[in-house]
Amino acid sequence: MSRTYLHAELHNHTTESDGALSVEELVQYARQEAYDVLALTDHNTTAGQERAIAASEGSDLAVLPGLELTTMYGHVLALGMTSMMDWSDLNPQFPDAILDRLRRHGARAVGIAHPFCVGEPIMTGCRFSMQIRDLEKIDYIEVFNTSGPDWFLGNEQALAWWQKLVLAGYPLAACTGIDLHHLPVNKEVFTTFAPVQEGLTKQEMVLAAILQQRTIVSRGPLLEWEEQNGCLHVAISDTCRHPYAGACWKEDEPVLVTMEDNTGALQRATVAREQPADLPLPEEVQYAVLKAYRNEAVFDQLLCVLAPYRRRKQA
Ligand SMILES: [Zn+2]
Ligand SMILES: [Zn+2]
Repeated sequence: MSRTYLHAELHNHTTESDGALSVEELVQYARQEAYDVLALTDHNTTAGQERAIAASEGSDLAVLPGLELTTMYGHVLALGMTSMMDWSDLNPQFPDAILDRLRRHGARAVGIAHPFCVGEPIMTGCRFSMQIRDLEKIDYIEVFNTSGPDWFLGNEQALAWWQKLVLAGYPLAACTGIDLHHLPVNKEVFTTFAPVQEGLTKQEMVLAAILQQRTIVSRGPLLEWEEQNGCLHVAISDTCRHPYAGACWKEDEPVLVTMEDNTGALQRATVAREQPADLPLPEEVQYAVLKAYRNEAVFDQLLCVLAPYRRRKQA
């Protein structure tokens, strides 16, 4: 198994909206932290995109243009979007037309940002309250928004919502974002990883990982699964881990893996480096969510959300 992964930062702001860093300073920060991909997502503007791409030239950092459509009824991340659009006709009870319009303006992956965040007086509308009729118009949910010292507020609900939808059959990826507005940033938090795929640019690898639900979110070890002989073979990646993994996990420490599936079953296994586990995959299992915890299956012990399992249709 052991694929290699890109390390991506998918949610941030600059002085082109309400951030404190200039576009160039944000790119500098992403380079310093050795991100492979930075998606620029200012509120309702694409103004900084060309400068961000220019600032990344000659470096290993790939800039993915995007924006955060910021409304009173919730915030939507549109990765790949290259031109701003009119959305003054947004009807929060029927927002699907606006989601289609994002794609016509270049959006390749559309995600709901911080769905359960309460917001604050200067940034209202953070909680997602639009009634999307066709959830297939959404590609991912930001299950961890890690800005601020109370970054976990609302994230537990966001993760639970994503899990419920995945187990109901929706093809949704899980992503994270630091929602950077200013420095310093808490670096010991969940981030998004995308598997390296031959023949694609780094930006395309991140988009493909989201559209194929292959992103992994982790603040420690990265765990991978492979379907073999009626089981999911689960192991800790030996090629990649969170750059600040040491804050919550030691290399030789075993982790507790849980697997919840669409039948309501819950399995548990202990996994360590050199000690993978095989979790049975009965035929009635179509979808499963796997998570790794430090020692107890409670939210504040969570280390990694694996790519969800989705049974391939028989040809
Ligand atoms: Zn937001
Ligand atoms: Zn934001």
